[in-house]
Amino acid sequence: MGFRATVLTLYPEMFPGHLGVSLAGRALERGDASLEPVNIRDYATGKHRNVDDTPAGGGAGMVLRSDVLARAIDAVSPEGDTRPRLLMSPRGRPLTQARVRALADGPGAMIVCGRFEGVDQRVIEARNLEEVSIGDYVLSGGEPAALILLDAVIRVLPGVMGNAESGSHESFETGLLEHPHYTRPQLFEDREIPAVLTSGNHKAVEEWREAESLKLTRARRPDLLAQRKITDIG
Ligand code: SAH
Repeated sequence: MGFRATVLTLYPEMFPGHLGVSLAGRALERGDASLEPVNIRDYATGKHRNVDDTPAGGGAGMVLRSDVLARAIDAVSPEGDTRPRLLMSPRGRPLTQARVRALADGPGAMIVCGRFEGVDQRVIEARNLEEVSIGDYVLSGGEPAALILLDAVIRVLPGVMGNAESGSHESFETGLLEHPHYTRPQLFEDREIPAVLTSGNHKAVEEWREAESLKLTRARRPDLLAQRKITDIG
């Protein structure tokens, strides 16, 4: 059936966005994945169809209403839907390649995109929303974050990446950053391709790549190495 994503948003026109082209575009076309944006405003009531209101306790901005959002969630993800319910949120657990893989192994996801100051806490609790962050910075809305999460998930679905090998060595898959890449021309502005890569010695190439990978990770992301040691032990 493929990976089924339903996205609750105030801006459905932002989808499929970049997912409409290239690898993801073809995956959506083939039906390896499906993406249905649903407008939260369709579940608002009253003359003005308000989806937000002022924050209790005062302060700047607006907050997405729990009643409207709950109605939208219940409509697109009724009881029995086994898909995880995600809320894109800077307060969430940071997205990792491991979580991406786990999502890709599942039936899909229902994803809520926040706007304004965020969503009423009660709907997060009442509908068991898993908050997911794409990094320690603040976006103006959850839509780009949802597109990024779906991009990462769709590219690891079976059959989506052209070359099945491509992916296994990539950054984070091994707990390390990936080694550098080179291609023709052999000489670029006085810079040669490292000789080992054109030596034809596969074992030497593999060892060079591993060493570069470790070196880069140690220099740029020592936190990944520390994590890897913990996982190795545990
Ligand atoms: N007041 C909130 C930020 C709201 S930003 C706070 O300080 O935590 C508006 C919406 O953008 C959020 O509800 C969320 O859906 C989305 N968003 C912003 N930054 C994000 C991030 N790093 N990861 C995932 N979603 C994010």
